[in-house]
Amino acid sequence: LVSFILYQSDMADNIRTLIYIFGDMLNSVGAAGKVFEYLDREPQVSTKGTLQPETLTGHVHFNNLSFSYPTRQERKVLQGFSLELRPGQLTALVGPSGGGKSTCVSLLERFYQPQQGEILLDGLPLQSYQHHYLHRKDNIAYGLADCSLERVQEAARRANAHSFISQLEKGYDTDVGERGGQLSGGQKQRIAIARALIREPQVLILDEVTSALDTESEHMVQEALASCPSQTLLVIAHRLKTIERADQIILIDQGTVLEQGTHQELMDRKGSYYKLRERLFTEDDTPH
Ligand code: ATP
Repeated sequence: LVSFILYQSDMADNIRTLIYIFGDMLNSVGAAGKVFEYLDREPQVSTKGTLQPETLTGHVHFNNLSFSYPTRQERKVLQGFSLELRPGQLTALVGPSGGGKSTCVSLLERFYQPQQGEILLDGLPLQSYQHHYLHRKDNIAYGLADCSLERVQEAARRANAHSFISQLEKGYDTDVGERGGQLSGGQKQRIAIARALIREPQVLILDEVTSALDTESEHMVQEALASCPSQTLLVIAHRLKTIERADQIILIDQGTVLEQGTHQELMDRKGSYYKLRERLFTEDDTPH
């Protein structure tokens, strides 16, 4: 588990956990670290940027984006899309399937280039940053080798993973390759959060697990998320229960921001968020 938290990239089956780490160069465990663990997708954009600032605040601004996928240029997937992610805030993207949530993330990853508008990271266009600085796909082990067990445990504690890890027969020596399939969705998420905490990302993106989490796991994941206050957090939420405490909830439908606000504000408005929630909760209550 220690090495899993530190190095390995293979998060299991049904959990799509995205961890992006922008600018973790100077953290106390050294440089590198796997920044971006998700799909082995190669960007379709030119990567000529050179910026590699030593520090970032993690402020992200999607500024009036319009975007079509290269394979379907006639169809605008995002239109006039604007959104700000602020350091210290948790932003949740919600909305019907196909609305454009994952596309926002792909653009933030710089897998594609929007046809109009731009994404700014700390006020500068994303394309001006060196690609590997944003992604750091390589050098997984380099720089983390001197990370102590105490530090791993500290991260696991903050991520609410320590107690269940301690209860495993081999504790932190557990081979997750073997045990991964036996971890619950909530446990995997908390391990993912522990891994992110070790790397101290400025911008952390979590694609929320779609399978049902029990209430306790949900609570633990929420608390774990709450324990990384200095980061810009973006959660793609499929289940709306977990994001009620988000600083801002962005409802995306047909490539635009339809509604934006806190849970309470959106509930009071009794608009699309309110209806989506009602619909999902009705589905949740039906037996699987
Ligand atoms: P879900 O909640 O189901 O994951 P989403 O809100 O994340 O949906 P996106 O995956 O961003 O939605 O999809 C937005 C639109 O873009 C959809 O119509 C989808 O079919 C289309 N789309 C997504 N990926 C591609 C691609 N690689 N090429 C062409 N079209 C795509």
